[in-house]
Amino acid sequence: MFRQTKSVLQKLRYLSFSGQKCTWRLKSSSAERALQYHPGLKIHGFTVKEVVAVPDLFLTAVKLTHDKTGAQYLHAARDDSNNLFSVQFRTTPMDSTGVPHILEHTVLCGSEKYPCRDPFFKMLNRSLSTFMNAFTASDYTMYPFSTQNGKDFQNLLSVYLDAVFFPCLREQDFWQEGWRLENENPTDPNSPLVFKGVVFNEMKGAFSDNERLYAQHLQNKLYPDHTYSVVSGGEPLSIPDLTWQQLRQFHATHYHPSNARFFTYGDLPLEQHLKQIEEEALSKFECINPNTEVPPQPHWNSPREDHVTCSPDALAPDPARQNTLCVSYLLGDITDTFEGFTLSLLSSLMISGPNSPFYKALIEPKIGTDFSSVVGYDGSTKEASFSIGLQGMAEEDTERVKQIINQTINDIIENGFEEERIEALLHKIEIQMKHQSTNFGLSLASYIASSWNHDGDPIQLLQISDSVAKFKQALVENPRFLQDKVKHYFKENTHRLTLSMSPDEAYLEKQAEAEEEKLQEKIRALSDSDRKEIYEKGLDLLAAQSKTQDASCLPALKVSDIEPTIPITPVQISTAAGGVPVQYCEQPTNGLVYFRAMCSLNTLPEDLRLYVPLFCNVITRMGCGGLDYRQQAQQMELRTGGMSVSTQVIPDSTQLDMYEQGVLLFSSCLERNLPHMFQLWSDIFNSPHFDDEERLRVLVMMSAQELANGISYSGHMYAMTRSGRHLTPAGDLQETFGGMEQVKFMKRIAEMSDLSQVIRTLPRIKKHLLNPDNMRCAVNTTPQKVSDTAAQLETFIKDVSESRKERKPVRPNVVERPLDPLDNSGLSRKLICEQNFQPCQMKTFFQMPFPVNFVSESIRTVPFSHEDYASLGILARLMTAKFLHGEIREKGGAYGGGARMGGGGLFSFYSYRDPNSVQTLSAFRKGVDWAKSGEFTQQDIDEAKLSVFSAVDSPVAPADKGMGLFLSGVTDEMKQSHRERLFSVTHKNLVDVANRYLSVGQRTCGVAILGPENEMIKKDPSWVVK
Ligand SMILES: [Zn+2]
Repeated sequence: MFRQTKSVLQKLRYLSFSGQKCTWRLKSSSAERALQYHPGLKIHGFTVKEVVAVPDLFLTAVKLTHDKTGAQYLHAARDDSNNLFSVQFRTTPMDSTGVPHILEHTVLCGSEKYPCRDPFFKMLNRSLSTFMNAFTASDYTMYPFSTQNGKDFQNLLSVYLDAVFFPCLREQDFWQEGWRLENENPTDPNSPLVFKGVVFNEMKGAFSDNERLYAQHLQNKLYPDHTYSVVSGGEPLSIPDLTWQQLRQFHATHYHPSNARFFTYGDLPLEQHLKQIEEEALSKFECINPNTEVPPQPHWNSPREDHVTCSPDALAPDPARQNTLCVSYLLGDITDTFEGFTLSLLSSLMISGPNSPFYKALIEPKIGTDFSSVVGYDGSTKEASFSIGLQGMAEEDTERVKQIINQTINDIIENGFEEERIEALLHKIEIQMKHQSTNFGLSLASYIASSWNHDGDPIQLLQISDSVAKFKQALVENPRFLQDKVKHYFKENTHRLTLSMSPDEAYLEKQAEAEEEKLQEKIRALSDSDRKEIYEKGLDLLAAQSKTQDASCLPALKVSDIEPTIPITPVQISTAAGGVPVQYCEQPTNGLVYFRAMCSLNTLPEDLRLYVPLFCNVITRMGCGGLDYRQQAQQMELRTGGMSVSTQVIPDSTQLDMYEQGVLLFSSCLERNLPHMFQLWSDIFNSPHFDDEERLRVLVMMSAQELANGISYSGHMYAMTRSGRHLTPAGDLQETFGGMEQVKFMKRIAEMSDLSQVIRTLPRIKKHLLNPDNMRCAVNTTPQKVSDTAAQLETFIKDVSESRKERKPVRPNVVERPLDPLDNSGLSRKLICEQNFQPCQMKTFFQMPFPVNFVSESIRTVPFSHEDYASLGILARLMTAKFLHGEIREKGGAYGGGARMGGGGLFSFYSYRDPNSVQTLSAFRKGVDWAKSGEFTQQDIDEAKLSVFSAVDSPVAPADKGMGLFLSGVTDEMKQSHRERLFSVTHKNLVDVANRYLSVGQRTCGVAILGPENEMIKKDPSWVVK
């Protein structure tokens, strides 16, 4: 994987508490025990350098150094069973061959102790890991994993250490993962030679995304003098310049303990980690000088301007407005923790939300569709940057945008920020620190990665309250503190780049030509014997890929290591005013209250359904009661952790043609703000504002742009949603709410010159949706806060009941189901049952402006409570791991592919960033034949079970406990019986369900492909081309 790191503030969003046990217990907690370490203490080849308690985050940080190699180590001891390990290397390439990225892939092709390809992928099936991955950033490569099981931690640690320090790095691995010349059809020596390789294709896919492309150009041009001027992930046309030798050399100098930073987190003992790391890896190395530092970027004496081109976006809301322009400023060194903290807060004040000066100056005049893809503070490089600009703008607005940016900066220096906005921002940090997520360890690892990578102090970064206190003090001492920063870093900064990007009709053609030229250049240099060798190597690779991989060298948990029963989550259901059911779930939420309300859509006229996502998007953002939208946004930031509304399509667990439709309201707040939060919801219910056409246009534009941008990332999700459209009624509604149909609808709305018709529609939807009839609520909070919340909730429901009016459902086929199947109190939810629904086969192709395909096929099978559901779930994993991955990724060259069993009873195949289109459909079919043949072992089945269970048992945050029952009516008892079915799935069951549900002739399926122009499909009348 290759990623561009997000800004510190975005990371802060995820920096939150995790774990079930969250109270700071004074005795015998992990953090308390870690306080016993003291500087100078020697443990297993390491020396303790620093021990610091960080009470705000309930952890103790222990910093160590490895004596022999100088490897750095940070441990965060905390009472969280979701333990994390990460090792990161400073990888600072000086060319765009993608060497760090290709290395990240090839170290995972087998190592000394574990000589089998793709150990991460194989460990997914042999472990209960909650996270496993690898990332290549601009200047480091990171390998993290997490798990709740101690034995599993040791297994994974062993595999990770061996992979990064002792990889095989065979020539064949390099060809497969990096690049190679090969006959298009490897078995036909006369077929043309083409470029192949996983990273080669991955990066072609990545740069087909214009936002990505722009971000890459911007970084390269703002830091033109060292490693940031190249593409660490690999520029597709430079990748073929890399040799196997260069790759091995890069490994020897960069993946060395002297260039490594280790991070561990959680409640497992530190000594055990250190012992294993010393014995299995570090003791085998000496100290080297890796020489990987990034020098400071020399400052420019005058600002620069540049221009780049991209491919036109067929989905852009307005084809005439597809330009991007942004100004980027070089800031200070990120290892200065407080300066980085200040600048990221400053950035937030400048650009976040409708009250920020840049939102007012750039977004509201609707010069562009949204901010540029790179915006705000970015602390992922050695020196940070700040960027501001627009995408989706017309070329002739260029000068105007530049002037506005300058003017806005002058205005900020003159006027500063309102005190209330600063207060709201600090409130947001308080909430973020209190909110408990399930991946706290991973958030910490990525939060400290960049600064630590350049020898910043990771412990200082963790002491967030110190920075907050220092910030408040600075404001007291100098009321112009922030304005002075703006003057220094923006107005007076000559190291700034104005970069514009415009579409070029011939862009893709030119790219293809350049690739062809590169290819011919390589081919011209070949002798006949070279060609023969290429052909033979191609066959060798094919043979190697077709060989069944022996993964028995890898450590594995057993099915018997899995917990046989699930813990019960107690909830209480009671009735509030007007008979509204409320579910209370008592949880250690650290003083936060989480509120949800599910409102039914059953009375909504059919023709309004397409508008519901738009309604959800704008309902909390256009003002309400006495507040205009700016004041509303301010109040929400000041009083809540956010308020949102989203569409819900919930398939029934017993019948395929039954589902519940609704919208879900969600918000959270500190206990002290409960009355304020409910007051805001009351105002939204009773008097939402809809008539500000200008405001609506801004929101519509941003949302259409966001949808269009998302397709190249989540094309497989769109393909899957589409392929299921005609198979179940729920599948149809899912396409309406979140599929390609919705993308096209939003594009149409964004193109309308007059939105008055939309403005008339929104209040109609509101009448049906925001109505206490057919509403049910859920509250997750601490036991002490339940009665207070109940009282506030009661007031809220009474407040909004005045507008109550009896409405008839538009569909007569409504079925009532008890809210809790074991509870006879009569509280129920209303589902739609379309008994006469006729599933039909449909093949749809969407021509898209990117060079790779997303392919999906879905098959109608059985609902969650059916006895075959568990077998189908395990079969999906088994097919993915043992067959489809090899066919679609290793042989087919796609970035990913597999099968999954969906909650709505659809068994779906998919591929991700796939060079093939219809060929992949036959790979799916071959997968079914493979499953029917039963050529898999008990070990394979056990592995699939482990992998299914690691998903079933992934940690759930206190805010989300009890949601299965609240939303879907799935009780702990139902989960437990599903669990028992999973345990008891046999070889015979798997072959049997493959035959009965997936065989041609047995199944009703739908197919969808998103991809570039496709002659084969065009000629085939069985396809619907969009
Ligand atoms: Zn990758």
